[in-house]
Amino acid sequence: MKIIGVLGGMSWESTSIYYQLLNQGVRERLGGLHSAKILLHSVEFNQIAELQHQNNWQAAGEILNQAAKGLQQAGAEGLLIATNTMHKLADQVMQGVSIPLLHIADSTGKAIVRAGQQRVGLLATGFTMEQAFYKGHIQQHYDVEVIVPDKTQRQRVHEIIYHELCQGEVKANSRDIYIDVIESLRANGAQGIILGCTEIDLLISGQDTDMPLFDSTALHVTDAIEWMLGD
Ligand code: GLU
Repeated sequence: MKIIGVLGGMSWESTSIYYQLLNQGVRERLGGLHSAKILLHSVEFNQIAELQHQNNWQAAGEILNQAAKGLQQAGAEGLLIATNTMHKLADQVMQGVSIPLLHIADSTGKAIVRAGQQRVGLLATGFTMEQAFYKGHIQQHYDVEVIVPDKTQRQRVHEIIYHELCQGEVKANSRDIYIDVIESLRANGAQGIILGCTEIDLLISGQDTDMPLFDSTALHVTDAIEWMLGD
């Protein structure tokens, strides 16, 4: 089994899901007492979130780049950035790092192609919904059109992520808001929905909607397990 390095803590609410799913997945595949070989660098998320909202991505990228180098030095053989948003900085994070990055948008894009969909809606942070790094990656590499909610809805989706989900709060009212947004995306032609923020699976599951969901956290972990246990 290869050792996976995880850049986590963004937020730790979702990193704990990564930790659980990685170990569960390895146990499902190998049985018994088997568990995942994981090196985790968990950052101070308040610092990262402040830099994001100050538009100081360079400084945030520097923190993650140092952490990635540390994980490689400690023996990690591959890397997960356990957040969609910080894939904006994937190139900077991987500077001077020679182990492979398992990109979350590849895990998601491949799953959409497998499902045979051509047009999907994206729920994520404002950064991920509004900027090109994630939508563009999926559009270019997987030929899938990614649509996003309108401005007001994007603001609500973003606020719920930072003010509730990343702080461990899961509210029924916010679930209703997300379901409304999913319905708007359906009305605009989305065939499925990317849960493109690693905390959204705390709020929304397949029981809440009949829209097909592409859960970036679960898909990222599935790819990581495949890679860890592959040749
Ligand atoms: N975990 C979230 C994501 O997947 C948001 C937190 C962050 O800004 O990294 O985008």
